[in-house]
Amino acid sequence: MNMFLIRRRLVVTTLLAAAGICQAAGKLNVVTSTEDLASIAAEIGGDRITVEAIAKGYQDPHFVEPKPSFLLKLQKADLLAVVGLQLEIGWLPPLITQSRNSKIQEGNAGYLDLSQFCQVLEIPTTQVTRAMGDVHPLGNPHYWLNPENGRRIAKAFENKFSEIRPADKAYFAERDADFGKRLTEAQKRWDAQMAPYRGRKVITYHRSWPNFCERFGLVVVDYVEPKPGIPPTPVHTLEVINAMKRENIKLILVEPYFDLRTPNSIAQGAGGTVAVLLPSVGGVKEVTDYFKVFDYDINLLTSTFAKAQ
Ligand SMILES: [Zn+2]
Repeated sequence: MNMFLIRRRLVVTTLLAAAGICQAAGKLNVVTSTEDLASIAAEIGGDRITVEAIAKGYQDPHFVEPKPSFLLKLQKADLLAVVGLQLEIGWLPPLITQSRNSKIQEGNAGYLDLSQFCQVLEIPTTQVTRAMGDVHPLGNPHYWLNPENGRRIAKAFENKFSEIRPADKAYFAERDADFGKRLTEAQKRWDAQMAPYRGRKVITYHRSWPNFCERFGLVVVDYVEPKPGIPPTPVHTLEVINAMKRENIKLILVEPYFDLRTPNSIAQGAGGTVAVLLPSVGGVKEVTDYFKVFDYDINLLTSTFAKAQ
């Protein structure tokens, strides 16, 4: 082989390597506050983005302990997606400020609050403050637990990704259409599973489930917490036991990050059972995407209801 060919090959190889680096650097770097948002972002962004969640799905999203690694994620993010409605107010705002990343500051193009696109329930009609202990002062932030809000979140990601990366607009649109189709199919399955149990009354620990329960026909009668974010009190616990007896309620749903002692004693007092339902992707190891949250929860609910009959 002559020197010319060898040199040309070297040049081509170098160019290819450089292109590879450019392509890797060209991926949109997305950070989300929760694993649910990360899962939906990945559905829409495919191989054009990298995405990482800050809070883990087995943690209470209202109370996440900040770590230095969170700051590193935020420093290199092109886009930060949050649930909003003050879900993350206890831990995320100082991290955003400390990141000194101008792209993701609230109000800038790299900050995406998904609550503005979704159906939000329990919006207070009177003034509520966090000083009163209510962690839902702007309405219920657990809105991702209705798949129709999942569809709205996906659309918002499609639009935002396309705004930042217009060259990939068609790609994001195609992935969103595919996600929407799979979500429609899954909802038929979930509806069929839940159909025999529509109208069942339940108790939940925290107000995590209004969107889920409205969508799948469950009625939440009371909560283990006297107020969102306030730990159980003996007086309220007794009220819950009485409500369960009075209305023949047999099921208490608890998020994975709450102590089971009070729910267990309520169940014992009222003759019911406790089920740990997952509000998020990553709530247990095998629940690795948005679809699996509903698969897991609906399987658990239907098998628990079936046993109770
Ligand atoms: Zn909450």
